[in-house]
Amino acid sequence: MANAYDIVEHQYDVVVVGAGGAGLRATLGLAEQNLATACISKVFPTRSHTVAAQGGISASLGNMGEDDWRWHMYDTVKGSDWLGDQNAIEMMCREAVPAVIELEHYGVPFSRTPDGHIYQRPFGGMTTHFGEGRAQRTCAAADRTGHAMLHALYQQALRNQAQFFIEYFAIDLIMDEHGACVGVLAWDLASGRLHRFRAHMVILATGGYGRTFFSCTSAHTCTGDGNAMAIRAGLPLQDMEFVQFHPTGIYGSGCLITEGVRGEGGFLTNSDGERFMERYAPNAKDLASRDVVSRAMTIEIREGRGVGEHKDHIHLHLEHLGAEVIHERLPGIAETARIFSGVDVSREPIPVLPTVHYNMGGIPANPYGEVVTLDEDGHDTVIPGLMAVGEAACVSVHGANRLGSNSLLDLVVFGRAAAKRCGELIEPGMAHKTLSQELADKGLDRFDRVRHASGGSSTAVVRDKMQRVMQNHAAVFRTGEVLQEGWDQMREVFALWSDVGLSDRSLIWNSDLVETLELENLLTNAMATMFGAVHRLESRGAHAREDYPDRDDQNWMKHTLAWMNADGSVSLAYRPVRLEPLSDEIESIEPKARVY
Ligand SMILES: Cc1cc2nc3c(=O)[nH]c(=O)nc-3n(C[C@H](O)[C@H](O)[C@H](O)COP(=O)(O)OP(=O)(O)OC[C@H]3O[C@@H](n4cnc5c(N)ncnc54)[C@H](O)[C@@H]3O)c2cc1C
Repeated sequence: MANAYDIVEHQYDVVVVGAGGAGLRATLGLAEQNLATACISKVFPTRSHTVAAQGGISASLGNMGEDDWRWHMYDTVKGSDWLGDQNAIEMMCREAVPAVIELEHYGVPFSRTPDGHIYQRPFGGMTTHFGEGRAQRTCAAADRTGHAMLHALYQQALRNQAQFFIEYFAIDLIMDEHGACVGVLAWDLASGRLHRFRAHMVILATGGYGRTFFSCTSAHTCTGDGNAMAIRAGLPLQDMEFVQFHPTGIYGSGCLITEGVRGEGGFLTNSDGERFMERYAPNAKDLASRDVVSRAMTIEIREGRGVGEHKDHIHLHLEHLGAEVIHERLPGIAETARIFSGVDVSREPIPVLPTVHYNMGGIPANPYGEVVTLDEDGHDTVIPGLMAVGEAACVSVHGANRLGSNSLLDLVVFGRAAAKRCGELIEPGMAHKTLSQELADKGLDRFDRVRHASGGSSTAVVRDKMQRVMQNHAAVFRTGEVLQEGWDQMREVFALWSDVGLSDRSLIWNSDLVETLELENLLTNAMATMFGAVHRLESRGAHAREDYPDRDDQNWMKHTLAWMNADGSVSLAYRPVRLEPLSDEIESIEPKARVY
């Protein structure tokens, strides 16, 4: 295509796409090493979805009782239902302690114990002594931990001269003829101009894709853009069938009520007023792992013990906690419950329902942030010039099910590790390789195609269809039949994409164009998710199949890799889970039944 756009050219050592917790931590680490760093974000950094993270960040500081990174590692491996890679999990749990102390020094205003230490609360699946006791491991800044982290990291990144390109929408990666990433193409929403960023390393930190579902706790911006850019560059996505449902989304609105509420003593009841989690998880009860609690709630509702007029949700109680605890530890929750369900939490329970919350799958990356794929012989191979961190990445530390408060940790540990790796690979100011005009302009084709789409279907209607198929067919419980039907319906929705039409073709603040670009990205994520789920014939973590109720380690202890073609067809391959830890300070945690 002849280039019809007047493009602004940039050259940086590193470009980070995304200014959530992961992108900002990477950006800060890069800028601290004097690497010329650009951070591109489609929303203002402190409005990134990380702002919504309430409960906290895990680290075995041991401020509220004994703790050890090995116990944290055991919990994370168990929580992952043995799909997590133990080398990466060891790295995350060991580095949690210095990473959180570093956040404190960067200025995150953590809540305090009476003697001035960082306050830590219990969270689901977090134990001591390899599953024996209950850990208080989640470091909290009241119920606004993500908000506090974003502000501190953004300020520190500015202080270190990182350059921000705010309300710039990244369209596609720029890849060279050898399959290396050499930059990214972006659209400045305010001026309407296109910008080409050349970089020795592009770090995708674009977050999750919760918005493929009808009801989710994620922001409208969580559209899996980075994942789709990777797919369009011919790379696979990993473990996309593992979508976490959080037990306590507010009934009707989907807004999250943090697990920290149950950590502070909140509990769930059914229509008989029974604390039913005591039956499903006799030890951990309401603080069992998220997939376990979500499934228990779904069974209660299915068996007619849901609450409300339609018996279709569950009650979450914190009335008994008292005004002081609520005011001090959970002020945002009280406000959210009042606004979104009209409930005064000091007097009545909150109506809740399992709601899509987190994507364990994403762009496959090693513990240093480097994106990996499989070579022809089935071995891991690193894609030069490309990294992925945060929820967009699949390292994989969360495996089949993430433990609460391990995501904020993942953001900072691997954001920091990626920056460090860039420091090893890149000399500040290194020259950029020449690139053919054809390759440099490739992403423009997509942009132009979407901008001039002239079919009869509206973006909102196609998105709504996709979200309903995903909600109904890739839910808490799955069967082969329902998933196959979901895949057939997703193919039909995908076909509608070629009939999408835009009424507004302008380049300045064209939200229609933004949403249509995002829709294409969402569809890509949805297709990979549904196809991976159809083909995984076992139950593991968040992927609970009624027709294959057991975990099958012999055949399925492996990661799914999914590639997608332009016609929407998906092909799969598998790579083994890494059971070997990084060091000899801990032995491999052998698979066993996962009970709480
Ligand atoms: C309500 C809620 C509460 C949570 N609470 C906790 C908690 O207490 N503890 C915990 O550990 N985890 C929690 N999580 C999970 C955690 O918040 C997320 O997994 C994490 O914040 C994701 O961070 P991120 O940096 O990967 O992505 P995000 O914070 O989503 O940031 C993505 C960034 O990418 C940018 N971006 C995306 N696409 C483009 C594009 N095309 N062009 C340019 N920029 C782009 C966005 O502008 C944004 O800056 C919670 C999740 C939810 C939904």
